[in-house]
Parts: sequence; structure tokens; C-alpha cells
Amino acid sequence: MLYNKDMSSIFSKIIMGEIPCYKIYEDDKTLAFLDINPEVMGHVLVVPKVEVDKIYDLSDEDYQALMATVKKLAKHMEEVLGARTLMKVVGTDVPHAHVHLTPLDEKWEYGKTLKPTEAEMQEMVEKLALK
Ligand code: AMP
Repeated sequence: MLYNKDMSSIFSKIIMGEIPCYKIYEDDKTLAFLDINPEVMGHVLVVPKVEVDKIYDLSDEDYQALMATVKKLAKHMEEVLGARTLMKVVGTDVPHAHVHLTPLDEKWEYGKTLKPTEAEMQEMVEKLALK
């Protein structure tokens, strides 16, 4: 069992299906979905299903599973969106390890987030979803 009802982060609630997300990819150990406050269109978060705060608290196995998904999705995003994919670990807002993947966008500005419509988010899911 990767997770249990005691886990309480917002990302665990997404993993357990208690709150919705714009899902891009899922496997046994990881989940990827669109950031709801995207810095650029196509801003994806990759999350381990096990809840730990910091990425370096993950077991080697879970860290490797997370990075395998990051690598696979970054390549996929580059192919689909035609832009280099940036990888970022921050973790100041949500205490559940995660990696941000963002397509390199010349219009990106520090601290600025976009407000895409529901239709734009769904369109991005259709573009990026990976089976
Ligand atoms: P940080 O912890 O600083 O790496 O940032 C956490 C990120 O999670 C922020 O970019 C938030 O916009 C994002 N976030 C928070 N809640 C949700 C949610 N329910 N669905 C998708 N992204 C979220």
C-alpha cells in the first residue's frame, strides 16, 4: 500500500481521488497533473504517491520512480510542445515532494502565474496526456 487515509497533503487527496486534477500520467508509484496556477501553459507537477515532504526524504526506489516519470514526461513534453522542458524543485507551498516541469517560454516572468480557462486546461490535458 503506497498511501493511506492518514496522509493529508493536498497532493495525497488528489492521489486518493478525493479532489480532482488535470491528470497527465499515472503509474504505480507516481502521478503527474497540471499545476492549477501555471507559470506557463503546460506546467506539470510530478508527484510520488508516497507522501514525504522533501524530495531527498524519498527512498531510493521512490526517488528513482519519480525521476523516471520526470524524464519520460519531460521528453514527451518537448516533443509535443516543441520547447525545451525545464525541471524545478521548490516545495515551499505544498509539503509533499514534487517536481515542476515547464516548457521554456520566452514570455515567462518571475512570480507571474496565468489564469487559463477550464477549456484551455482540458485542451492541454489532451495534448500532454501520456498512456
Ligand atoms: P511549491 O510547493 O512551491 O513547489 O509549489 C506547489 C505548487 O502546487 C504550486 O505551483 C501550486 O500552484 C500547485 N498546486 C497547489 N494545489 C494544487 C492543486 N490542487 N492542483 C494542482 N496544482 C496545485
